[in-house]
Amino acid sequence: MGKIVVAGGAGFIGSHLCGYLLGKGEKVVCIDSLVTGNRANIAGLLGGKNFSFINKDVSGKFTVKGDVRQVYNLASPASPVDYQEKPLETLAAGSDGVKNLLELAEEKNAAYLFASTSEVYGNPTEHPQKETYWGNVNPVGPRSCYDEAKRFGEALCVAFSKVRGVDVKIARIFNTYGPMMRKNDGRVVPNFIEQALGNEPLTVYGKGGQTRSFCYVSDMVNGICALMNSRERGPINLGNPVETSISGLAEKIIRLSKSRSKIVYQELPIDDPERRLPDISLAKSRLSWAPKVSLDEGLNLTISYFQKL
Ligand code: UDP
Repeated sequence: MGKIVVAGGAGFIGSHLCGYLLGKGEKVVCIDSLVTGNRANIAGLLGGKNFSFINKDVSGKFTVKGDVRQVYNLASPASPVDYQEKPLETLAAGSDGVKNLLELAEEKNAAYLFASTSEVYGNPTEHPQKETYWGNVNPVGPRSCYDEAKRFGEALCVAFSKVRGVDVKIARIFNTYGPMMRKNDGRVVPNFIEQALGNEPLTVYGKGGQTRSFCYVSDMVNGICALMNSRERGPINLGNPVETSISGLAEKIIRLSKSRSKIVYQELPIDDPERRLPDISLAKSRLSWAPKVSLDEGLNLTISYFQKL
């Protein structure tokens, strides 16, 4: 049968993916440097007979023994605050890390899924974003270490597929949220929930008119696995096709958490994309996949998780 490798398996989406695969009876090898991943996310999995953990950075040397059937590569800082603090680690994850894991897939004759991102579209001039859109990325801006690393990672996948015959799949993951996000990871959902639960002001950057589309993590894991188990190479957008303004999100989180918080407005970060909305026609038709969890439902589950921390 062969094991399944999840690189970045102690991170937010990676840890949910490990749990999901173990629930299906798979043998899972999690590799994580714990640079932005969190050992607590896999604490409940450690010691299980089908789970093993390798605490290594995939951009350096590591080995995986035995047969491997699938390699999921989710190993990279993903929050703008994290990747801007660690630009070199982020570029290494998107280059050496992607290559090392592609070589592992080649050696083991395993399928390989690369977790790419909606950030390949940068500040999009096309709306909603289809996979055919080439993007609008500042190559030397504060987000370039992440955006260009992921674009390079996609190019590496395409080259390994063409030259070495590796069975690659590219998922373009849009904003995802849920339990197991770090409360201090800087992304908007954990920031707003932490602030609301502490009855502190919610920090909306800019005027709050910028938009994102938020996908609950269980929907994302289903989409990622559907792509891995399909014959598609992608790239395929995975995300929730409901667009929300950031001020609308702030108001919703205040209401759902019954908070007394007010909203304060702070400076908009440089190159912050104005709008983001996935066109998921391809995922719907090729993978029969679409998100099921509404924003209210998903936020309630996430608020309960943060309340218990
Ligand atoms: N944002 C905000 N307040 C915060 C954190 C983020 O207004 O405390 C905004 C940010 O400027 C962006 C959006 O929320 O427009 C989503 O930011 P996030 O860092 O979650 O992810 P991004 O989609 O930018 O990668």
